[in-house]
Parts: sequence; structure tokens; C-alpha cells
Amino acid sequence: MPPAVVWFRRDLRLMDNPALLDGLAAGDGAAVALFVLDPKLWDKAGPVRRAYLLGSLRSLDTALGGHLVIRHGDPAVVVPEVAQHTSATSVHVAADFAPLGAARDDTVEQHLADRSIALVRTGSSYAVAPGRVTKSDGTPYRVYTPFQRAWLTHGWRAPAPAPATDCEWVVVDGDQLPVSPDLGGLHLPEVGEAAALDRWEAFVSSGALDRYSDGRNRPDLMGTSGLSAALRWGEIHPRTLLGELGDSKGHEVFRKELAWREFYADVLHHHPNSARHSLRPELADIEVDVGPDADTRFAAWAAGRTGYPFVDAGMRQLLAEGWMHNRLRMVTASFLVKDLHLDWTRGARHFMYWLRDGDLASNQHGWQWAAGTGTDAAPYFRVFNPVAQGLRFDPQGDYVRKYVPELGDVPGGGVHEPWLRKEGMPRDYPERIVDHAVEREEALARYSAVRASIGPLT
Ligand code: FAD
Repeated sequence: MPPAVVWFRRDLRLMDNPALLDGLAAGDGAAVALFVLDPKLWDKAGPVRRAYLLGSLRSLDTALGGHLVIRHGDPAVVVPEVAQHTSATSVHVAADFAPLGAARDDTVEQHLADRSIALVRTGSSYAVAPGRVTKSDGTPYRVYTPFQRAWLTHGWRAPAPAPATDCEWVVVDGDQLPVSPDLGGLHLPEVGEAAALDRWEAFVSSGALDRYSDGRNRPDLMGTSGLSAALRWGEIHPRTLLGELGDSKGHEVFRKELAWREFYADVLHHHPNSARHSLRPELADIEVDVGPDADTRFAAWAAGRTGYPFVDAGMRQLLAEGWMHNRLRMVTASFLVKDLHLDWTRGARHFMYWLRDGDLASNQHGWQWAAGTGTDAAPYFRVFNPVAQGLRFDPQGDYVRKYVPELGDVPGGGVHEPWLRKEGMPRDYPERIVDHAVEREEALARYSAVRASIGPLT
């Protein structure tokens, strides 16, 4: 019996991987483990995502005993070629629900069918595949809370078993991995499936999961799992995490955060245009600033030099680690849209370039949430106050001092306070580029101008 082909994409792991098990079963215990480096996706990825992917592929190759086959090129050409070369009759994947990935898979499926080879989709990167949870009338949810309830009721399978230890990974000619890009001073943590499982184990055993309902809001204490990149690249499956959760408060809140990821994937599946355009078309007309002044403000925001310490710390964490705490993602996104009056897509592009967990569904909809153009029921009046947010969620100022060295000598939570400037704020720290109180009013005025046409979401 010929081996099957297991085509890895966003599922760079061996455990809890139903598509891999299906492939091995189809090949009677033998399969080619294939990853195709598609120039279309590679060229669009920034250095952080490239470096992360390369690290993760090296780790997967090690776990496969050095038998991962890497090929460069268009999957519509490469996948059928490899399958035909090995006489495989089926290619096995986890279904991709993102717009580009789904379209690519349809094309590959047709090319395979021309050679009488099947593309078999088993599972996805989600506990519940996008499109599965619908309202009773069959239409998709547009609001998170009812989606989350229905998602919970729908439920998910138990984690899949580990592959047999005596399976055979068949090797065919492959290409070399490209050299990792130089990330300058940016530091990535350890990547790969083993590191993801260790991170989860440490999150549980340290008690952080039990403290999660409060801890998740404290960037100074790092009370979250740090698993977003591992989930994005499929080094760990959400089902693996969900399978270990109980009913305590911390566990329940963690499950609800995973549900946000599933909700946004579902929204993108039903509204592929929401990756680039406001989900609520009536809010697409909000006035945004463009031109040289707007560009200068954008550059200050991107470099973490707005003069608002909490915002600057978040933006600098992104540049230093390719990751930012969720509280800061909300605060910095709100600042770009509501204090600087810039288009949310501009900020979303910057995030996607730098984030190691950059995910189209979570990022674009996280931005739309902050901009008030997305799935939120009554979003336009929420304008985060960057000083109050800092005082509340980084009360001792430790987070700010970690990422903004100019403020390293300013003691305690006072690092967030405006009055400090008068009493000797360090000279090398920038002046505020805008006055929050003034810009808040301006943002509300701009929202009011289009508000008349805004109806409630159901
Ligand atoms: P934890 O708190 O440990 O949460 C566990 C997991 O739940 C996360 O790893 C993530 O997969 C999921 N999750 C938690 N919160 C959210 C959320 N609000 N939306 C969707 N999923 C969530 N997340 C990404 O994975 N990729 C992105 O590109 C991304 N961009 C974002 C942009 C903005 C403007 C905002 C506001 C949020 C964005 N998020 C994104 C969601 C969230 O900020 C990150 O998932 C989270 O900070 C990751 O840290 P963690 O793994 O420690 O999270």
C-alpha cells in the first residue's frame, strides 16, 4: 500500500492531530510529512512570523526524526506532484477556514482530483469548526455572548490519541529551509510543540490558571498563558487545553477566552470581507485623519513615543517580543483610533507585521472591537483612558518601567500620572502628542455624526 501524504499548515504538532492519524491510517502506518513554503504567504509575513515559522518547522522536523519534507512553491503544483511521486491516493489536512487558505485548498483539491487523488479534511484549528454553531434559524451569530453559550452547548471531541510509535515517515526530495531573518534586538521565546506543552503545564501547575480571572488583566504580573502563538501555529490544539479545564472561576474564564478565538474565526468565515472592511458598513464612514500630521502621529504610536507611558510600554513590548498583552492591545488600539483618529486597518497592519501570534481573524476583529466597527453591541462610547488604565492594571508601574527605560527611575504607579511631568519627568521621554480629554470629545463627536444610522446588533 502506498503511503498517504500529511500536509502540515497551521497544525505543526504530532499530538492531538486527527488529520495526521487519518493520513497514517490511510497509508497503513506510512505517510509523507509535507510542509509547503508558499511564496504567496511567505512574502506577506513579516520577519517575526517568518522566524517563528522556521523555528517551529525545525522543531517539528526533530519530532519526526528528521523526516519532514519541505518544498517551496505553489501548493496547487507541489502537493499533487509529491502525492503522485509517492503514488499516494489521499492527502490529509486539517481544514483551513481563513479566506486565502480555504480558497487555496479548493484549488489544490481540484488539481488532486485531476489525478484521482483525494484531499481529505479532518478537523480544524478550532474546538468547534467555524460555521458549525448557528442560531436556531441557521444564520450565523454576530454577537459573542450568545455564540459562546451555543458553542459551549455544542461541545467538542476529546483530544485525539498520540500517533503510533512505529509509524513510518517516508522521505522524498525536498528543499532547504530559508535562513532565519535577523530580528535585531527582538527576542522570541522557545517555539514548537514541546515548548507549548511545557508552557501550558507551567501555567496550570503554577496556579496562574486558577488565578486567571483576575490575573489575565495584569500585564505587570504576566497572568496569562502566553499560548497564542502556539495556538496560531497549531503547536497545541485548543481541545487539548479545553480537555483539562474544570468548572472553577479561573477555568471558566479561560474557556471563554478560547471562545473569543473561535467566535472571531466564525465571523471571518461568514464575512471574509471583515478582514479589510468594517463589519458594520454604516460605521465605515467615520471620519479618519490622513496626511503628513496623521503620518507623524502614526509613527510616534508605532515607535512607542506618544508620551503616554502605558501606551508606549505596550507598543515597545510589541517591538521587543513580537507579542503584546491583551490589555495593552485594547489600550493601544483604542488610542490609535480614538485619540489619534486614524483608520483601524492601519494599526491592524502594523500589529500583523510584528505579532508572532498574528492571526487574521483575532487581529482584525480585535481591532474592529476597539474601533467600534465590529461585533460589539454598543461600542462607540468606549474610549479607554490610557492613564486610568495604567493606574488600574499596572498599579506599581512595573510594566511601564520594564519597557520604557527612560522612566526607570520614576517610582511606583506615579509613572502613569500626568503631574509627574511638571515635577521632573525625565527629559528624554517624549511630550504627549495629544491631549486625551480633548481627543475623547473629538472621537465622540465623530461617532455621533454617523450614530444616527447605527442599529443594535442581534
Ligand atoms: P490568554 O489570556 O492566555 O488566552 C488564552 C488564549 O485565548 C489565547 O492564546 C488566544 O488564543 C485566546 N484569546 C484570548 N483573548 C482573546 C481575544 N480577545 N480574542 C481572540 N482570542 C483570544 N490574538 C491572537 O491570537 N492573534 C492576534 O493577532 C491578535 N490580535 C489582537 C489585536 C487586538 C487589537 C486585540 C484587542 C486582541 C488581539 N488578540 C489576538 C487577542 C488577544 O490579545 C491575544 O490572544 C492574547 O493577548 C494572547 O495572549 P495569551 O496567549 O497569553 O492569552
